[in-house]
Amino acid sequence: MANLSQKAFGWAATDTSGVLSPFHFSRRENGADDVTIKILYCGICHSDLHTAKNEWGFTKYPVVPGHEIVGLVTKTGSNVESFKVGDRVGVGVLVGSCRTCDICQQDLENYCRKMIFTYNSTDKDGTRTYGGYSDIIVVDQHFVLRFPDNLPSDAGAPLLCAGITVYSPMKYYGMTEPGKHLGVAGLGGLGHVAVKFGKAFGLKVTVISTSPKKEAEAINKLGADAFLVSSDPVQLKAAMGTMDFIIDTIAAVHPLAPLLDLLKMNGKLVTVGLPDKPLELPIFPLVLGRKLVGGSDIGGMKETQEMLDFCGKHGITADIELIRMDYINTALERVSKSDVRYRFVIDVGNSLASL
Ligand code: NAP
Ligand code: ZN
Ligand code: ZN
Repeated sequence: MANLSQKAFGWAATDTSGVLSPFHFSRRENGADDVTIKILYCGICHSDLHTAKNEWGFTKYPVVPGHEIVGLVTKTGSNVESFKVGDRVGVGVLVGSCRTCDICQQDLENYCRKMIFTYNSTDKDGTRTYGGYSDIIVVDQHFVLRFPDNLPSDAGAPLLCAGITVYSPMKYYGMTEPGKHLGVAGLGGLGHVAVKFGKAFGLKVTVISTSPKKEAEAINKLGADAFLVSSDPVQLKAAMGTMDFIIDTIAAVHPLAPLLDLLKMNGKLVTVGLPDKPLELPIFPLVLGRKLVGGSDIGGMKETQEMLDFCGKHGITADIELIRMDYINTALERVSKSDVRYRFVIDVGNSLASL
């Protein structure tokens, strides 16, 4: 039996309305390999919304979302040497894996069949995992990240999911060659970080968005080279066959044909968005253009640390709207309408305890 002796407080969704409310619960006592963290900031990922509303069909209520966590270490177990009390650390989407399978041995814990998510999962001790919309979290040291000194805790928090989710496929699928042309479909939390990585890798970056609303910011603030409105057939036609790769971060069902048409021969479309229903895959443009469609799921711990260090070096952070915990339901409603520039981050440390 787990020793659930650490009192915790957070906000949980309790049914498919996805509405969150204050929730008292317990976390395990800090074990020999554990780090207990006082949470300062937590980003709001669209996956939090999908889960709170059970859009993917595997939510177990109550669920405390949040997997873009930055905080301070308050306790370390006897086997922990890399972290000490007071260190600033991060926790992302995963808090466990088997650590022994061939996938884990390749530092790809994110694809381990026994991977444990930061929330809405069953932990090794049989208890439920609860995420970062809460005051403290207890995590095995292997799944804790060092947070580079020059990254701000609030605007750096979204890197722990949004950042690694686009960084990992960009590396794996070879989207890092300077001068190549990258399309970023969907300018939300993931998409806006993909634009920044694209520019850091020396790519030409074109944003593909549903409306012209974000155009000026995409170009002037985020550094994109061009902007395409996906509902404008004239713009799409003019850009046909010009992109080497597209990273598709769109959170809802959408047609793939226009994106495939934007690719050059041998182009790659990599999907990271997770709409709640399948997408239709048009075969002709794939076959006739020798194109490739791939997917990718966050990243392993080693690569996540590499990504954080890369962001520290290149000064890459998210553009955020900092909110109080009690704004969460309005924030989630706004995420559902793509009305955020470009990531909400909850000021957990200053607004949760004072409720
Ligand atoms: P987000 O901030 O809400 O951004 C998603 C963007 O998708 C929106 O800003 C919007 O871009 C576009 N969009 C939304 N509805 C659309 C529609 N009906 N048609 C066309 N475009 C639409 O979400 P996020 O946090 O970046 O997450 C994006 C997706 O990735 C979610 O499904 C999330 O669950 C998934 N995700 C996957 C992983 C992974 O490891 N694979 C990790 C994290 C998140 P415009 O305003 O520019 O049109
Ligand atoms: Zn996420
Ligand atoms: Zn494994």
